Amino acid sequence: MIAKVIVDVNIKKLNRPFDYLIPDNLVGIVELGTRVIVPFNVRKLMGIVIGISDEAENDNLKEIISCIDLVPTFNKELLELGKTISEETASNLIHTFKTMIPSAMKAKYRKYVYLDNKKIYLDTLSIQDQKTFKKLIKNGLEVVYEVKEKTKKKTEKYLKVVKTGKTTSLKQEEVLGYLGSEKHKKKDVLSKCSQSAVKTLISKGIILEEEVEVYREIEVDSFDKDVTLSSEQLKAVDALENRVNLLHGVTGSGKTEVYIKMIENIDKDVILLVPEISLTYQMINRFKGRFKDQVAILHSGLSDGEKYDEWRKVLRKEVRIVIGARSAIFAPFENLGLIIIDEEHETTYKQDDSTRYHAREVAKLRAKYHNCPVVLGSATPSLESYARAKRDVYNLIELKSRYSQSLPKVHIVDMSNEDNNISHTLLEKILVRVKKKEQIILLVNRRGYSNFILCKDCGETIQCDSCDVSMTHHKYKNRLECHYCGASTNIPTKCPHCESENIDFLGIGTESVEEELLKALPGIRILRMDQDTTRKKHAHRDILNAFRDKEADVLLGTQMIAKGLDFANVTLVGVVSCEQMLNLPDFRSSERTYQLLTQVAGRSGRAIPGEVVLQTYNKDHYAIKGVQESFDKFYEQEMEYRKLAGYVPYYFVENIMLSSTDYKLVHSEAVKVFNHIKRNLSSSAKIMGPVVPGVSRIKNYYRVQIIIKYKKEEHLLKVYEDTKSMLNDKVDIKIDRYPNYLG
Ligand code: ADP
Ligand code: ZN
Ligand code: ZN
Repeated sequence: MIAKVIVDVNIKKLNRPFDYLIPDNLVGIVELGTRVIVPFNVRKLMGIVIGISDEAENDNLKEIISCIDLVPTFNKELLELGKTISEETASNLIHTFKTMIPSAMKAKYRKYVYLDNKKIYLDTLSIQDQKTFKKLIKNGLEVVYEVKEKTKKKTEKYLKVVKTGKTTSLKQEEVLGYLGSEKHKKKDVLSKCSQSAVKTLISKGIILEEEVEVYREIEVDSFDKDVTLSSEQLKAVDALENRVNLLHGVTGSGKTEVYIKMIENIDKDVILLVPEISLTYQMINRFKGRFKDQVAILHSGLSDGEKYDEWRKVLRKEVRIVIGARSAIFAPFENLGLIIIDEEHETTYKQDDSTRYHAREVAKLRAKYHNCPVVLGSATPSLESYARAKRDVYNLIELKSRYSQSLPKVHIVDMSNEDNNISHTLLEKILVRVKKKEQIILLVNRRGYSNFILCKDCGETIQCDSCDVSMTHHKYKNRLECHYCGASTNIPTKCPHCESENIDFLGIGTESVEEELLKALPGIRILRMDQDTTRKKHAHRDILNAFRDKEADVLLGTQMIAKGLDFANVTLVGVVSCEQMLNLPDFRSSERTYQLLTQVAGRSGRAIPGEVVLQTYNKDHYAIKGVQESFDKFYEQEMEYRKLAGYVPYYFVENIMLSSTDYKLVHSEAVKVFNHIKRNLSSSAKIMGPVVPGVSRIKNYYRVQIIIKYKKEEHLLKVYEDTKSMLNDKVDIKIDRYPNYLG
């Protein structure tokens, strides 16, 4: 018997399976989707069995050395899925398969099972025993990966009353009264009662202090509430069709409730993707509250071991719903009934390195296999999805009104006549809301060209030595960092170009806006949420909870406050500056600006009538006016621009990036690649380049870019495959079929 094995080796030209002989003693152990150890040149490497056949094409085959899995890591569906994704994204098979599983399963962790209360390591079994165990495992014996955690377990101290005893002061009485019969966190008790009284009671043995491991799962304050769907929401649930559905619902229309009802309506497995867990915790609480233990949550804050724990819940069929970021799309459910992608327009659904897959495309593949619907939800759908819905390629479901209020009134303020970062109009409105004890969200849009250091004399920024890109200032470390290679340096006192000492920070930061606001309205209570204030674990949640508990009038922050927040008392949203994103050199900059502004505007007036102030120097730009008018207005104008300029969704736009430490070589290879592609695609395809992208060098690798625009190309994947194999070994190639940005 012959196994076709893809080997874990990083040589781009070896992107195909190799034949290995399955030795007699491993027949019955090696299966499709199992991981094996194979000889490769002089090394022993991990491989994945992606095919088994009776006949060898060649008789001089090496034998598989051993089998890593007794149960396949990849079932039939995921095996086929991996092959398809690898093909569709023009990426390496082995990288693709490794992308699909939790890191715990990538490394060489030992595995064991428990049998008769004994821990038995699988790598100690004889081949004969392996066969026996394989049967046991198939019948439900569980295999565990021994993942040693690098991070130490976190514990918290708790206090509880363990015996009755004489108290000697009122303060001690107070502590006992507070504790009652329950266990309380020590820090909570200390903040409410006298610390010395607590100490005394502990020393008397009346209360016991114990350390409890903080549960590794994401902490959620799950809440359930009685919900009766509005007639519009009910209609949306009923409109679900067994294909891709685009749920276009304005902010506050109750998309979450619609998702919940859709999930309730089926008894099969569900994957719900969210852009980023820490920013969507309110929504997750809602799901936890409703579906309780049926839900597993996969997010980037978990360690390898913790992620693997959640993954196992899926394998053991203990849960039927997985909520997670992008990679949760690979959750190994065998009976999928629904895939939901919330905020489908978000860029985080696309992986930007290794296998450049888009979770939306993977969702379609999995849905096809399981014959189940996909729901793409958003108040601001991507142009490509909306265009497909308009042409009935997707089923369009709309929620046009908010559940309990009307949409907020949007004011656009022209900043060209203002002296400060906060306009008179915005300041007045803030004051009115504070007086009414209502709350305000202020967005300082930092993405773009802020937090760089600029020389006021020569106009140069401080650049990274190896990347031709401006370094970013990190206030909390007070250092400059390169976002491309991670290099970091102290802030210079002089400009490295002209020696001037007149160097300063560029752009508006959250801190300077906070200062300005405090000066204008002394006593105003501000919670700031940005990179600096959210370093600690749970910082996001703590800040948002404080805001919910009305401990502040204003929540002031960067992009991270723009999405998903649902606070009933917020009646004013201000955007300090709308421009940064608009000025990015990218064909999607208007779309991104419109999306961000609409999302943040949507935080206002969700329960009480509210309003929005957009401060801008481009008051007539359609991306900004669109927020005031409607999605359709914006959509029509943007479509016109895309049509004229030949971009998505009129053309598919793909990006090829070549890089090398050899400047001459990468340029000559780029010409070769360009000519090859030009020759092999139809004449209607537009091939642009080779050009040097905005960031021309990263980690001393010079970069050259080719952009391909096309409507339909039958042989595109073949052309890509050939391009890769004709390339000089010293040149690296990245093919990005769903680029978020061109550059
Ligand atoms: P979206 O995600 O569409 O912006 P949400 O799902 O966050 O909107 O809903 C907005 C608010 O309205 C939430 O507080 C939600 O709990 C509430 N809501 C929506 N639909 C209902 C309903 N049918 N009954 C009660 N509350 C609802
Ligand atoms: Zn200078
Ligand atoms: Zn760098």
